[in-house]
Amino acid sequence: KLGNETAKAELGRATWKYFHTVMARFPETPTEDQKEALRSYIYLFARLYPCGECAEHFMQHLSKYPPQVSSRNAASGWACFIHNEVNAMLDKPEFDCANLGDFYDCGCGGDEEGAAA
Ligand code: FAD
Repeated sequence: KLGNETAKAELGRATWKYFHTVMARFPETPTEDQKEALRSYIYLFARLYPCGECAEHFMQHLSKYPPQVSSRNAASGWACFIHNEVNAMLDKPEFDCANLGDFYDCGCGGDEEGAAA
């Protein structure tokens, strides 16, 4: 089956940007409800990802490395780790998760609890 690699890669870049930005905005000390929201979101995100082959791979990664939702740090670190699993599968360089810092900035300034509230 012939795909369109350019479109697939572009979708991937846009999605990762969004995915990591969601994690960067997740509360530092989430409530149980917020943790459950993120966990459900991640599983539904995987299930509904438009590239079927990617979704299938990603769901396998998820079953091996379940989402970490206890804090912003845990969620961001987990997302970086699982993106690196995809990088490894595709022979791409590993991203240094220690350099995550403010790499993913939503541009939404000081509305600190804007996400998952
Ligand atoms: P990308 O991997 O898209 O990364 C974009 C940018 O994010 C990088 O330039 C870097 O600045 C930063 N980055 C890189 N690694 C990390 C990290 N670990 N943590 C935080 N930031 C990082 N493609 C396939 O061909 N087959 C698949 O099975 C497949 N599965 C995918 C599953 C998901 C859930 C997603 C979102 C994408 C998938 N893709 C898949 C697409 C693939 O991961 C890439 O997005 C695409 O190949 C473009 O790669 P890229 O080199 O531009 O960088």
